[in-house]
Formats: sequence, C-alpha cells, structure tokens
Amino acid sequence: MIHSYATEALEQLHNRHAHEREFLQAAEEVLETLGPALEKHPEYREHAILDRVLEPERIITFRVPWVDDGGNVRVNRGYRVQFSSVLGPYKGGLRFHPSVNQSILKFLGFEQIFKNALTGRPIGGGKGGADFDPKGKSDREVMAFCHSFMNELFRYIGADTDVPAGDIGVGAREVGYLFGQYKRLANEFTGVFTGKDPKWGGSLIRPEATGYGCVYFCREMAKSRGESLEGKRCIVSGSGNVAQYTCEKLIQLGAKPVALSDSGGFVHDPDGIDVEKLAWVMELKNERRGRISEYADEFKSATYTASDRSLSHNPIWSIEADAAFPSATQNELNGEDATNLLKNGVKYVSEGANMPSTVEAVTKFREAKIGYGPAKAANAGGVGTSALEMTQNGMRDRWDAERVESELLKIMVQIHEDCAGAADTYGMPGDLAAGANLAGFAKVADAMIEQGVV
Ligand code: GLU
Repeated sequence: MIHSYATEALEQLHNRHAHEREFLQAAEEVLETLGPALEKHPEYREHAILDRVLEPERIITFRVPWVDDGGNVRVNRGYRVQFSSVLGPYKGGLRFHPSVNQSILKFLGFEQIFKNALTGRPIGGGKGGADFDPKGKSDREVMAFCHSFMNELFRYIGADTDVPAGDIGVGAREVGYLFGQYKRLANEFTGVFTGKDPKWGGSLIRPEATGYGCVYFCREMAKSRGESLEGKRCIVSGSGNVAQYTCEKLIQLGAKPVALSDSGGFVHDPDGIDVEKLAWVMELKNERRGRISEYADEFKSATYTASDRSLSHNPIWSIEADAAFPSATQNELNGEDATNLLKNGVKYVSEGANMPSTVEAVTKFREAKIGYGPAKAANAGGVGTSALEMTQNGMRDRWDAERVESELLKIMVQIHEDCAGAADTYGMPGDLAAGANLAGFAKVADAMIEQGVV
C-alpha cells in the first residue's frame, strides 16, 4: 500500500515534471516503498520532507563551446544537479553521453542522495555531465571539451562544496583534464574530484571499487541464504569499468563470469572469462577502445550476438546462469528479461549500473524473493571509496591498497546489514529494495528535520 503522503507527492511530481521519465521512475521506486516509515513518523509529513527532498537544491546548466580537430566550433550542454547537501558536500559523478538530459541527471542525483547516505559517510548527493560523446573523439578533442566544461563548472564546486567524480564516459583521462583545469582556475590543489590518479591524490582501489563492492554485496546476499559465490555462473552486462572489476572480483572468489556486452551486442563464453581473457578485454576496452565483438574472434569458446532493437527482450538475460550483474546502463533489463532470468533459475541480481532494471523487472525480482541488490546499495562501493579518497585528501595521507579494500569491504557488509535490518524492522524480511530505501531515507529525513527549513 502506498502511503497517502507519497501518493500526493508523486501526483504533484507528475504534474510538474511529466516529461522527466527517468526521474519520475526513480522517485516512484523510492516513494512506493516508504509507506511504513511515513506511517510511523508523521513528522516527515509535517516537515514536508518529500516535497523538499524531491526538489534539487540547485541545478546549473551551461553552454560548453569547444573546437574539434577540423577547426569547427561545437556546442554541448553541461549540467550539475546539486540535489541534497544535508549529509555533506554534494557528491556524485559526471556522465558524458549523448543521452544525457536533465531527467537522467535528476534520476541519478536523486538515487545518489540515498546511496551516499547508505555508505555511512558524510556526503550529500549530486550528479552532472553533458550530452558530449567521448566515443571516437581524439585526446585533444576530449581535453578541449573537458577544459571548456570546467571553465564554467569550477565556480560551483569545491572540496567542501561539491566533489564530482566519473561515471559513464568519464574515466581516468577525463578526470585528469577536468582536475587539471580546476587547479589552474582555482589556483588550489585540493580534493575537489575523486577518481584521481593515485600519483596526484587519487585513492588506490577507487577504479576497482564499484565492481568489487557489487560482488561483495552479492556475497553478503548469498551468505544470508547459506550459500557462497563459488562456482556460480554469472552474467555481467557492460564491459566498462564496473563490468571489468565485477569480473575480476568474481574470478578471485571462484565464480565464473560467462558474458559481457557493449552497445553493439554481447559475448557468451560458457567456459568462463578467466584472468587472461579479462586482461585481454581490459586492453581492448581501455587502450584500443575496441568493440566486444572482437572477443569472439579471439576466443573460440565464445559466441557473439549483435544487438537487435526490434526484440522486446535482450537475449543476454536468457543465458543460463546463477547470478546476474547488470553493469551497463539504466533500464537495460525489463520485465520480460526478468522472467527469463527467473525461468533459468537465477538466484541473485546485484546491480552495478544505476537503475538498470525497469519497474516491472524489480517487481518480479521482489515477488520471486530472490536475492536482489538494488543499485543504490549494491553499487555504493564506488562512491563509498570516493569518500575514502576525500578522507585521505583531507589528511594529506595515502593509504595502501589493503587498507582501502578492507574499508570498502566493511562499507559493503554494513550496507547489506542496514538494508536487511530495515527490511526486517518493517516486516519485509529479505526485501533489500525496500530496505535500502527505508534505511537511506531515514538518515536523510532525520537530518533534514534537525537542520530546519533550509
Ligand atoms: N558515478 C558513481 C556512482 O554512480 C560514483 C560517484 C562518485 O564516486 O562520486 O555512484
């Protein structure tokens, strides 16, 4: 049952933002599960917590002009959505992708508030980016774009104000160019970005953290059901940073990743992707910036299936497996895909991407009572380790890899415990989707009351 306050808030949101499809989806997913908390705490309504938390504190949009290698002037649109600073400085990545618009960044920023709350670290929620496509651009073009983007963004960010990081299309190269320009403009070398290179203030294990954390979260779900990940066949979608390090940790824990994808299609390798094959993928994707189809040419045990947008489902989710790690992008797994996964006996879904499952898919996972780790919990290891990077920067210290990874593991175990605990408290044992929303929301809502009407 949806609480009447949540219904009213959603109605108002639909009226005001009918065209912001992804933001509405993310808001609905959270608000529909908050019933028991809104019932128990009438003060959340008295303090208009939903009305306030659904409205970003600030949205900045700006022109990003740059010159391409042919000497042509190009223009993109840049954004920063500073959603909530109630728990700390705005924190969240930048996404460079042609699909970027205000709705997508508001959904990501909204999710980030609760994800960041779940990490237990003092970080608020934000997100930004541009409709710029780094794919196929030269290094010089990427640098020109990043510098122009930062020429505007630098006014709004700072180590104690707003700390961006990477996301889709923003990796080590882009963070380098963005940070360099910030430093030049502000004349300050501060922890204004995370995901920096370890040579100049980055944290070890930050590149690995989202994927590693997602696997650790799945291991906790398995543990709570008396199982381990050993020998489990795992579908991993995507082939970027999150997918790569998800595979790496799965292999380390004795599981067997059997698939990877990109926008062109997916590869299925029933023999499993081992350490050598993964090293090849990392070189393909990170150095040569090639396509995943080449995997099937290189390794004869694998087959390649090209994407077919005329299908109502994605066949990667029909591969026989025990667990799935959607690590590509939003809404990559729909209701039909969820049915196919469940038909094949998949017992765990741990989300590496943000909101990869549609509302129908999430409903099916929850009804089937499989181990379902929603993105805001399962992929929080990335931003959790960003918070560890901020700590190291603040102390002008540098921790070794073992220390960072053990802190990351602690964060993931704690998040699982908090989500499972909240689900138990509100009489929905095992429902980690509801548990994550309830646990994250409680921290944010209580802090908002304590800080007054701001
Ligand atoms: N973009 C990542 C996320 O979705 C990381 C954000 C960060 O490290 O600030 O959580």
